[in-house]
Amino acid sequence: MGFAYGLPMPPAAPSPSSAPRPVAVELVALTKRYAQGQPAVDSIDLRIASGSYCCLLGPSGCGKSTTLRMIAGHETVSSGDVLLEDRNITDLPAAARGTAMMFQSFALFPHLTALDNVAFSLKMKGVAKAERQAKAQDLLERVAMGHLAQRKPGELSGGQQQRVALARALITQPKVLLLDEPLSALDPFLRIQMRAELRRWQKELGLTFIHVTHSQEEAMALADTMVVMNHGLIEQVGSPHEVYNKPATEFIARFMGGHNVLQTPTGKIAVRNDHMRIEVDGEGIAATVTDVEYQGTYVLLGLDAENADARTGVSVMLPESVFADRPYALGEHVRLSWATSHAHALAA
Ligand code: ADP
Ligand code: MG
Repeated sequence: MGFAYGLPMPPAAPSPSSAPRPVAVELVALTKRYAQGQPAVDSIDLRIASGSYCCLLGPSGCGKSTTLRMIAGHETVSSGDVLLEDRNITDLPAAARGTAMMFQSFALFPHLTALDNVAFSLKMKGVAKAERQAKAQDLLERVAMGHLAQRKPGELSGGQQQRVALARALITQPKVLLLDEPLSALDPFLRIQMRAELRRWQKELGLTFIHVTHSQEEAMALADTMVVMNHGLIEQVGSPHEVYNKPATEFIARFMGGHNVLQTPTGKIAVRNDHMRIEVDGEGIAATVTDVEYQGTYVLLGLDAENADARTGVSVMLPESVFADRPYALGEHVRLSWATSHAHALAA
């Protein structure tokens, strides 16, 4: 909605704290069928808040990349719609959508300087050299890489390469940045460093990021909103805190890890393994210690218990000092219990 010059100003927007954030991307009954049978993405509905960091999380093959590619315009939609800021972009070509993609391992051209990597898409569009180089330099300044514009990727650290990749994705002035497993090819140390950088840049730039990952740890570290997918469906949407503390389904409790799924007379429940009580005797369920794993701050006990799945057993996470005061040995018989407030019912 535009206001003509000279007309009264619209009323001031409500403060961000009282108003829900506007929606950047909306998916409406979005479906992708590659073949007969269950679709790869099965009529999903989702609203992603503007300026938020959204992670699409789920096991391999659950439909994350297909969803991202349909948002990007790299994959046709079988049915349903993709809206960007209320504009229906379902049938627009990728370059006309207002989205940009950042690929795995950054995919920079090794023979081009940082500046020419960033300017590349403008070159393809036929933008004159002086103009595209000025824009590219400006973007490199924004990600604190201006002074290294003439270096080639091989002369940059992993973190610096990621910033060049970010600048390259931003040169088309996207409203939404799409990232498909951008960190999964990196070694674990660099991956943790790079994810902190990604989150910092997202907040600094105020852009909407949609990041696909199969790592629940990565999603929890990055996301404002986690969207957990399974078999082409969305099983839960929430903050990392909500999803971790109130997993909606058995699948999510098991996929997120750190939970015990237990059968009780009233139904199936999830209890975090650091919320389990372990005693030598008492009222709890009978269990036998089968594994003791030292993890530094914590000690992780594996146990066989009567109410648990025989394949997965039960785990109990004890602070190191608690374990040091009362160590448990392999084969020891114990009782397990939990506060009812820590038991979370799972949907059937
Ligand atoms: P994820 O990214 O979550 O690992 P994908 O979206 O890549 O999952 O794949 C979802 C499902 O669709 C999988 O069963 C996969 O084999 C199938 N699939 C993905 N791409 C294609 C394709 N181009 N042609 C046929 N099937 C595909
Ligand atoms: Mg994928």
